[in-house]
Amino acid sequence: MRILYVEDEKYLADAVIHVLEKSGISVDYAEDGEEGLNLAVKPIYDAIVLDIMLPKLSGIDVLRDLRERGIKTPVIMLSALSQVEDKIKGLNYGADDYLAKPFKTAELAARLRALVRRPALKPETVISYSDLYYNLEDRTLNDLALSEKEANIIESLLKNPEHVLSKEYLLSHVWGSDASGEDNYVEVYISYLRKKLEKLKSKAKIKTIRGLGYKLCSKNSS
Ligand code: CA
Repeated sequence: MRILYVEDEKYLADAVIHVLEKSGISVDYAEDGEEGLNLAVKPIYDAIVLDIMLPKLSGIDVLRDLRERGIKTPVIMLSALSQVEDKIKGLNYGADDYLAKPFKTAELAARLRALVRRPALKPETVISYSDLYYNLEDRTLNDLALSEKEANIIESLLKNPEHVLSKEYLLSHVWGSDASGEDNYVEVYISYLRKKLEKLKSKAKIKTIRGLGYKLCSKNSS
């Protein structure tokens, strides 16, 4: 694990870095907010430990700047116990954790490990049902490319598994306002999707519920 540690109290930093490195965490050090930000934008750190009271730029400013640039490296904020307001601000600007000074370096190391392990930092990008998994980012179904409308339909079905979705619902969600009642198009795209499910040998199927709509369910279900 490689972290960036931004702290202006050099004697404190030296002691913390010594202990962290001994426990196998490699540390880059910055002494003020400006230098910290210059390093923090690099995509090489597993986490950043950021003191709040810093010369040149405060820890809050550094954090805000990072998040505004879309940099999501986990951040632990440090500040004196009394600065509750700072804590709230930090968490509002997207800090992942907060540690009050004085702290035990072993505790910081443990929190760093927990943070770097935590996969939930990433927003959900995959929805799944049965043996199907759909990627919301690249809009693939079990890594299979889909057309835009196929993707819209399967996304709706996967978000409501084992629920009947009416043609009208799908039309308004997939075709939007320019649907103008051409509901047979839904059937066409459902048949394309069924072929893809077959190709994937999926255990799931899209069932037609006569007069009501469509339901994503297990092949075993009646
Ligand atoms: Ca400080």
